[in-house]
Amino acid sequence: MALIVQKYGGSSVADAEGIKRVAKRIVDTRRAGHDVVVAVSAMGDTTDELLDLAHEVAPIPAPRELDMLLSSGERISMALLAMTIHSMGFEARSFTGSQAGMITDSHHGKARIVDVTPIRLREALDEGAIVIVAGFQGFNRDTRDITTLGRGGSDTTAVALAAALKADVCEIYSDVDGIYSADPRVIPAARKLDHISSEEMLELAANGAKVLYIRAVEYARRQGVLIHARSTFSSAEGTYVLGEGMDNPRESEGAVMEEPIVAGVTTDLSQAKITIVGVPDVPGKAAEIFRIVSKSGANVDMIVQNVSAASTGRTDISFTLSKADAAATLKALAAEKSDIGFENLLHDDQIGKLSVVGAGMRTHSGVSEILFDALSTTGINIEMISTSEIRISVVLRGSDLTEAALAVHTAYGLDSEIEAVVHAGTGR
Ligand code: ADP
Ligand code: ASP
Ligand code: MG
Repeated sequence: MALIVQKYGGSSVADAEGIKRVAKRIVDTRRAGHDVVVAVSAMGDTTDELLDLAHEVAPIPAPRELDMLLSSGERISMALLAMTIHSMGFEARSFTGSQAGMITDSHHGKARIVDVTPIRLREALDEGAIVIVAGFQGFNRDTRDITTLGRGGSDTTAVALAAALKADVCEIYSDVDGIYSADPRVIPAARKLDHISSEEMLELAANGAKVLYIRAVEYARRQGVLIHARSTFSSAEGTYVLGEGMDNPRESEGAVMEEPIVAGVTTDLSQAKITIVGVPDVPGKAAEIFRIVSKSGANVDMIVQNVSAASTGRTDISFTLSKADAAATLKALAAEKSDIGFENLLHDDQIGKLSVVGAGMRTHSGVSEILFDALSTTGINIEMISTSEIRISVVLRGSDLTEAALAVHTAYGLDSEIEAVVHAGTGR
């Protein structure tokens, strides 16, 4: 008998039929003799719809109230799921994040889990119940307020529960059969991966692959939780995310795979670029600028500084950040224009970022050449480049992103003959 944590995303519980399908999977796991703890997301696009509603009544909704609102989505799905399981003749009990002991810091909208005290969950399990926990939400002890963990945060709830309860595996169910070499909605020839290292998965998640939430992958890596990403809509085995020293559960079946140099390609349309034109090229200006940027709450991704023109002694500095943070950052920079002494600010929200991720880059040369060759063959212009040890990213026109991703995916030999299936969801 194992303890299995299962997480069902919004597309898996989008309607009554979906909830019944999920309930059946949970009951089947219970019937097989396992203890089951479930983290569930809000139904379908509920969170997006609640966010839209909030912005209709207030341009900048109060963070505390926004968390009260958004956390209601998961309360609906958890109760409906527990009821469905009851009607199938099994004992199930739903819990909010705070009832489940999901303790976070006080950072509304992006709270971090600081402790998990699953006392009530243990009791329910001991009494033979299936446990259902509302994903995405927690509780701060100082403010005594409800928090949410950031978009996609139900994945983190599941991993945190798996760690606290010492579960054997954390199964993350969604509308695709596992983790692919690219988003199958963008690249239908994407290849399903048997397994992926948590290091590579972190880079994929950080660069636009929303199939797993980055903080969930980080948490699992730190706590040694085995993640199995799979589909609600099929019984196919999915993809294992393996932390350091973790064995691939499937290798015992003899399926030893050769590790490819590149694990996957990601696309990201959520970023914008800000260029500060005519910055005096003297020591301390970059520090001054990025102090303002960070105070505005933005998370900077890439930074490029041009060589300064000898005649003017001025340079341009460009950086990318989340589109959602651009307005506040532009405002903060504009307010300091005369102090910093720059000439102009440019805002470009039509960019796209393409990244190629693979641990094999450490030991193989020529990986970037393939990327640049593929882009040059398609005539697509590169605007910015950045690299990490296992990733190369380029910024392009957003309108070129899909074409670029298709070409790059093919160039690395990642195309599969079997077309990937996306079972449900709107991709929102
Ligand atoms: P859920 O609602 O279950 O949390 P998400 O929508 O957050 O599901 O994540 C699943 C989606 O992630 C898929 O429908 C797919 O479009 C997208 N996705 C992006 N990159 C990848 C990838 N590399 N592999 C699989 N899915 C991906
Ligand atoms: N419902 C939340 C969201 O849409 C959390 C999640 O689904 O993981 O972001
Ligand atoms: Mg998700």
